[in-house]
Amino acid sequence: MDGGPDSSIWSRLGRLFARRDDEESLEKAILEARADGAVAAEEESMLLSILRFDDLQVQDIMTPRTDIDCAPADTPLLEVAQLIVDSGHSRIPAYSETRDNIVGIVHAKDLLRCLIDPAHHDTPVNTLMREPFFVPETKGIRDLLQEFRARKLHIAIALDEYGGTSGLITIEDVLEEIVGDIEDEHDAPREEDIRVLGENHFELTGRALLEDLDELGIHLESDEVDTIGGYLSLMAGHVPAAGELFTFAGWTFTVEEADVKFIRRISVRPEAEGDALTAQAS
Ligand code: ADP
Repeated sequence: MDGGPDSSIWSRLGRLFARRDDEESLEKAILEARADGAVAAEEESMLLSILRFDDLQVQDIMTPRTDIDCAPADTPLLEVAQLIVDSGHSRIPAYSETRDNIVGIVHAKDLLRCLIDPAHHDTPVNTLMREPFFVPETKGIRDLLQEFRARKLHIAIALDEYGGTSGLITIEDVLEEIVGDIEDEHDAPREEDIRVLGENHFELTGRALLEDLDELGIHLESDEVDTIGGYLSLMAGHVPAAGELFTFAGWTFTVEEADVKFIRRISVRPEAEGDALTAQAS
């Protein structure tokens, strides 16, 4: 931090990420500096996170499509203002017909300016939205950060290979990879994906990651999906409905709550116990 005229967060991050050469020796230098006591533990972890950026793509850290708070482009301004208040997000994607077709981003700042005049309350939000910045979900985080910087943008919409919406990513998602979770004053507390209800008794959301289940002794592997919701859907060949029950790797998974597209809650018990419960129930 030189405090000079070029010390904005952008230029500092830019200088850090501009270096691509010889990362192995950089990593070694960081580890040595830590061992010598020249670098504190948190600094070491931040510096190493930056080096690991090369392995990260937008799809690894974005907010997935199903979690995007968005609105149809013809929604009246006042309703979008309500969504901003309810969701706590200051930028709301606007879509035409389905969320696969995002056509703009509404910024709270722009909306406020208009809302001051009650005559605008029913105006459709597409009159003031800004053009979205689209990126492929496979884009590297390092490149994304450079582009955010060059375009002076904070938010992008990630697309899958077919041009559908895959997720949403902001600068905060990228910075969290360096400094850990940033608790925004507006962040709604997020539901835990894994809850331990008792010994060998868990409750999961469909989003819980297979690699995190591994730590609980639930060993499921797949090259195609990352989450338990994806896994059960893949195995069943459809999105399972509430009440469906599966047994894998010695565990019984009961779908407690689901809608047509997404499994919300799953309870997990060891296989024998689950079977006993099913037997009881039938
Ligand atoms: P905000 O403060 O407006 O929520 P941030 O850039 O601080 O925006 O992002 C905080 C987190 O919220 C990030 O994980 C980001 O992906 C997510 N996020 C931002 N806008 C939305 C939105 N409209 N819908 C869902 N998630 C969002």
